[in-house]
Amino acid sequence: MRIEDALARAQEAAAPEVGRGRLAEYIPSLAAVDPDQFGMAIASCDGQVHVIGDADVPFSVQSITKVFTLALVVAAEGEDIWRRVGREPSGNPFNSFLQLDQEGGRPRNPFINAGALVVTDRLQSLTGDASGALRDLVRRESGRADVSCDPEVASSELEAGHRTLALAHLLASYDNLENPVDEVIGQYVEQCALSMTCRELALTGLFLARDGVLSDGTQLLSARQTKRINAVMLTCGTYDSAGEFAYRVGLPAKSGVGGGILAVIPDRGVACVWSPTLGATGSSAAGLAALDAFTTYSDWTVF
Ligand code: GLN
Repeated sequence: MRIEDALARAQEAAAPEVGRGRLAEYIPSLAAVDPDQFGMAIASCDGQVHVIGDADVPFSVQSITKVFTLALVVAAEGEDIWRRVGREPSGNPFNSFLQLDQEGGRPRNPFINAGALVVTDRLQSLTGDASGALRDLVRRESGRADVSCDPEVASSELEAGHRTLALAHLLASYDNLENPVDEVIGQYVEQCALSMTCRELALTGLFLARDGVLSDGTQLLSARQTKRINAVMLTCGTYDSAGEFAYRVGLPAKSGVGGGILAVIPDRGVACVWSPTLGATGSSAAGLAALDAFTTYSDWTVF
C-alpha cells in the first residue's frame, strides 16, 4: 500500500481514540492542551516527508528527547554510560522509585525518568550545556533553526515536578549524579519542554534509521551503536507498555507525555505521531492505534 494510503488508514484507526483518555495532568500547562488533535508524519531515509492531520502543529516533545540525549552521550564517549544506567525493561511506570532504591541507585534503563536524569547529567558534564547540545542537534536535523524550549512548560514542570526532584535526590544519595541536583533538574525540564512538530521530529530521528548518519552525511553514531539504541527503544521506549507496544506495532519507539511517539523503521525511515491524550501507561492511545494500523497496512515494519 502507498504511504499516503497507509497514513489515511492510520488516521482512521486512531479516530475513535482521539480525545479519549487523559492529558498529562501532573504538568499543568500540558493539561491545558486541546485534546482533540491528531497528526502524523513519515520521513523516509532520503528526506521525503508525508504528513496527515496536525503534523505541523508544535507540541511538547517531553520524553522523546531522551533518545536524542542518549545518542549524544554515546556519540561522545561510547559505552561508558552503561556503568551508571542499565538497559533492561523496568515493567514499572516511567516515574517509579521502587527499583531505583532497591537496586542501589542504578536506574533500570535510560528511558525511565531516573535513567534519563543520569544521561542528562552526563551530557551536562560533557558539554556544560546539555539542553543546548540537544537543541543544536534538533535544529540541524529538523531544518528549523529556531526550535526551542517552551518556558511555560518548563516552569510548570519545575513547580509541579515533585517526583522528578525526588528521583534526582535519590540518585544523588547513591552518588549517581555528577552535577548539583538543581542543575540536572533544570537541564532535564528544559530538555523535555522542547516544542516541535511531527514533521520536525520525524526528520530529526532519521539518523536512527540511517545507521547513525546525520542529514549532512556525517556519522553521529556507528551502525552498531545505532542498532543498540534502537534495540533499547524496542524493549524500554514505551515503559510498562513496551510489551504491548511491540506486540501491536513491532517497531523501536519512544513516547512522551506530551502525546508524541517516534518510531524507527531501520533503513526505511521514521514515523512520528501525536495526539495529546494518554493511555494508562503514559503513551498516546491514538498514537498507538495509528502506528498499529500503519505497520499493518504498509510494509514499513521490521517483522
Ligand atoms: N518531563 C516528564 C517527566 O519527567 C517526561 C515524562 C514522559 O514524557 N514520559 O515526568
